[in-house]
Order: sequence, then C-alpha cells, then structure tokens
Amino acid sequence: MEQHISERVQSLATSATLAMSQKSAELKAQGVDVINLSVGEPDFPTPAHIKEAAKKAIDDNFTFYTPVAGYLSLRKAIAEKLQKENGVAMQPEQIVVGNGAKQALCNVILASINPGDEVIIPTPAWVSYVEMVKLAEGSVVELPAGIENDFKITPEQLRGAITDKTRMILLCSPSNPTGAVYSAEELQGLVDVITAHPQIIVMADEIYEHINYTGSPIRSLGSFPEIADRVVIINGVSKAYAMTGWRVGYCAAPLWLAKAVNKLQGQYTSGSSSIAQKAAEAAYTGSQQCVEDMRVAFERRRDLVVELAKAIPGLKVNKPSGAFYLFPEVSAFLGKKFGDKVIATSGDLALYLLEEAHVATVDGAAFCAPGYIRLSYATSDDNIRRAMERIAAALKKLN
Ligand code: PMP
Ligand code: GLU
Repeated sequence: MEQHISERVQSLATSATLAMSQKSAELKAQGVDVINLSVGEPDFPTPAHIKEAAKKAIDDNFTFYTPVAGYLSLRKAIAEKLQKENGVAMQPEQIVVGNGAKQALCNVILASINPGDEVIIPTPAWVSYVEMVKLAEGSVVELPAGIENDFKITPEQLRGAITDKTRMILLCSPSNPTGAVYSAEELQGLVDVITAHPQIIVMADEIYEHINYTGSPIRSLGSFPEIADRVVIINGVSKAYAMTGWRVGYCAAPLWLAKAVNKLQGQYTSGSSSIAQKAAEAAYTGSQQCVEDMRVAFERRRDLVVELAKAIPGLKVNKPSGAFYLFPEVSAFLGKKFGDKVIATSGDLALYLLEEAHVATVDGAAFCAPGYIRLSYATSDDNIRRAMERIAAALKKLN
C-alpha cells in the first residue's frame, strides 16, 4: 500500500536521546562493550517500599480504569508535596497525572498553544520541547545561552524575545541537558519581566528539582506570587524516585487549563496505569531518604565526571549544579580527522565516540546546541571512569 504519514509526524524529529540509547543497546546485543552515557535515567532500581506498594495495589484489585486526571488520593499527595516542599498552593482539581512528565508537558502545550503562538524556549533545551511545540503548530523562539553564561538566559534576553504573540515560556531548572540551576534571585529577574505580560503561561519543568547540588532547595516558579495564577508546574516520579519505566508524571496548572488537559487526555490515553499510580502515591507519602541517598550518589559522580572531563585537553566543561548531565563544548575537535574521516559536527563526534570509543553520548544539536555533546553520568563510578578514559584516548587520536 502507498504510505500515508501525516505531515504532522513527518515534520517531527526522532527523539535523539532514545534513538542513541537504542543504538547503544543494539551494539551491546551484538557483543560490543558499549558504555551508555546517552539516555538520562537513574541507574538505581526503584526503592523497595515503592515496589511493595505496587504489588499490594495488584492484590487489592487496583486494576480498573482510573479517573482521567489520576486517583484523587494521588493528586492529594501531590498537592501536599507541592505545599510542603515548594510552598505552592494547588488544589487536587488543578493536577492532572499522565504517562510521565513527557505526556504532561505535551498535554499542556496541545491544550494551550494555537498555530502561530510563540513559545519561548531557552536553549540548550531538552529534545522534546521543540517537537511538542511543532506538534501544536506553535512557533518556537529559541533563546540561546552558552557555556560562558553557565547556560542561563538573562532578563534582558527574555524581554527582547517577548512579542504580542508570545503565549508561553518553558523553563527547565535544573536543566536537561546542561545541569544549570537558576538561583531564586535569577528566577526573580525573569519573573519581573514576565509579570508585565499577563498573556504568558509559564511552564516550569521541575523534574530534576531533587537532583540538586547547590546546597539550598530549588525555588519553584510556582512560589512567586506575581505569576502564581499562570504557572504550570511539571514534575513526576521518574528522576527523584528512579521510576522511569512506571510512567507517572503530572502538571499542576490553573484550573481552566487543568480542565482542558483533562478533556484532551480523556480522549487519547485516559488515566495512567492504576498500579503505577499507587506506587507513585507511596513514593510521595513514604520516607524521602531514598531521594537523598540517590542525590548524594549523583553528586559524587558529578564531581568525578567533571574532574575527569576537565583533564581532557580541548573539552570545555562547566560544573553542573543539578540533574545528571555534563554538556561539554567540543568545538576544538571539529574539523579534525580520524584517518580520512573528517569530524565536521558535534553529531560526527558523537558517532565517532560511539564507533571508536564505544561510548554512547548525544549530539548537542538534538538540544538546539550544535558544538556540544551531552553525557549522562547516571551510571556507576566505574563506568564513568572507563568511559572518560576511552573518550580521552579517542579524542587524542584526532588530528
Ligand atoms: N522533562 C525533562 C527535562 C526530562 O529530562 C524528562 C526525561 N526524559 C522528562 C521531562 C520526562 O520524564 P518522564 O516522562 O519520564 O516523567
Ligand atoms: N530524560 C531522558 C533524556 O533526556 C530520557 C529520554 C527521553 O525521554 O528523552 O535522556
């Protein structure tokens, strides 16, 4: 049959993080000893008390369709978390649980963006933001911030990007892919600009809030009273509780938007898994020690990867303050050769590192930042050491 792929899907890029991870898994299956620093997910198993809650949910027959927005008990637990940890007052009716933060983000974009609406995205930015806006036929306005600015935009930059058509700004802190964290003062500077533009929805992706090495809690954008009525908080259990496969995330939004998201989700996926929701409820209501234990491990690995990467001539590295990614600038290697193969782009370099060093990374271009590569250090200390040795050796071979 003649193939009919919609223009909508044809125009989408494949998720580079997932594609690179799949490629690395395929090589591994062929017996190649690949170290996977591509996909960003905690390497820890889900904590035992959370797994127990899921087993109990099955035995207690939580096996039926769930409310579209998620169990009320889970949404209450999330509302309590938002109040207690973030100082954000949200009613359970303002929360819609979906299949991961990814769906929550896409829901909000599809429910609020019309064709031609502008969405401001500071870059480097996580791979899916731009594609989600494209899906909604919105226009992406990229606001670049390089390593020299610790990957953070300034209030002046933001002010200059706002037009009559700006409908949303999407901010991710701690950031994937850079690990940059905005301080409360830096956020206040951005909030002061946004306050003057009441038509702008502020989407705050706070999924890495607990993977934070700054020594002080992340200030949630939802806690700024000036914009509290138009902030959408995105979060979930994937990163903080090592639950990427369970697929539970949420948006906490103004009621009118939560209602629209609920309508949308009710037509195309329904409520997320009953069992995963009960597990997530246990994550939010149980002991938070597991979150801190993993954070400590990630901080040790951050220190290790930064130390090793800084020792590699040509790699330009900053010290990330959160998340579990390093985003080195690699322009010193572009234009160099391996045999007769020219490394022209950061994409070529990521491919070269996969083929020559057997280390999977992600091309910065996937995050709207060519000239960089992303390394996820959510892996063992031993893997980090071996990977960085291999990268150093492979980079040395380029001339
Ligand atoms: N936002 C960011 C910045 C992420 O890195 C991820 C992880 N891919 C997500 C959202 C989505 O997370 P999940 O769908 O697993 O909850
Ligand atoms: N957050 C992860 C990453 O950026 C998961 C993969 C994805 O969903 O893109 O690698």
